[in-house]
Amino acid sequence: MATWSTSSNAPPPDATDGAPEQEVAAHLLKGLRAQIPASVAVRGIEVEVGVTVDLDVGALQAALCAVLPGVEVRIRRVDVLFKCADCGAEFPADEHPCPVCGSVRVAMVHGDELGISRAWAHEAT
Ligand SMILES: [Zn+2]
Repeated sequence: MATWSTSSNAPPPDATDGAPEQEVAAHLLKGLRAQIPASVAVRGIEVEVGVTVDLDVGALQAALCAVLPGVEVRIRRVDVLFKCADCGAEFPADEHPCPVCGSVRVAMVHGDELGISRAWAHEAT
């Protein structure tokens, strides 16, 4: 599989002294706290990490568990999906260029996610 340039929302690896996974965990935690009232006891979160995001998901999960004790942390890798700028077809990276019209003018619509997709306050069933 081809490698793609890293997304702009991932911090550069040498931005700080901290490990990037810890920086990302702190950022995600801040976003979570901004959206969910402090009175709500979060039981679990699901984090979407696109496959092009250059992070160690195991380290990210460990970092999140460290800042969210007692919270179930699920990490979901999101495969790359391209959308053709000419015909609008959506297709996975290994079919590039566009399998419908052959265009190379494509945009990545999935694969560079980095964020909490879900949070729940009760045990998931
Ligand atoms: Zn096309």
